[in-house]
Amino acid sequence: MTTICGFKPTNICKECKGKCCKELPGSWYPEDFSIKPNSPPDVVRARIISLLKDKQATIDWWENDYPDYFLRPPAVNDRSPIEGSWGGACIFLNEDGCTRPFKLRPTGCRMLQPLKDKCNAHGYTKRHSCDAWASYNDILKSIVRNWEY
Ligand code: SF4
Ligand code: SF4
Repeated sequence: MTTICGFKPTNICKECKGKCCKELPGSWYPEDFSIKPNSPPDVVRARIISLLKDKQATIDWWENDYPDYFLRPPAVNDRSPIEGSWGGACIFLNEDGCTRPFKLRPTGCRMLQPLKDKCNAHGYTKRHSCDAWASYNDILKSIVRNWEY
């Protein structure tokens, strides 16, 4: 049986009413979609396009000299599945909290530990997610370039 790692929401989240989810969705990681280093590139590409079309994911990026791409859940204010904006509530959030079962939440969400003063991301930041997607950056770049708005 696979163990799903992470920190489940606590009463601290109830009091805070999902501040993290209201500010910016957490990050998807390749393993959330069973994308692995040995996955054929055309399979990875098709999987990502399907996630974008099904509104399960948005491609976002970290601006550098060269953008590093990563995936996150769509935010309510995204205008397209290719969106580099900062901020916005996650589309999976409703007034009762996250609508996704815990094991189907992004790794970046599951790894955020609720704490009274400052929640701890345990290093699962936007930058870290970009690094996790680095092997697929050329695929993501090609999807971004060819996406029809
Ligand atoms: S993880 Fe932190 S910011 Fe997010 S809902 Fe829980 S307490 Fe609030
Ligand atoms: S997927 Fe769920 S836990 Fe993650 S940001 Fe969206 S509402 Fe919050």
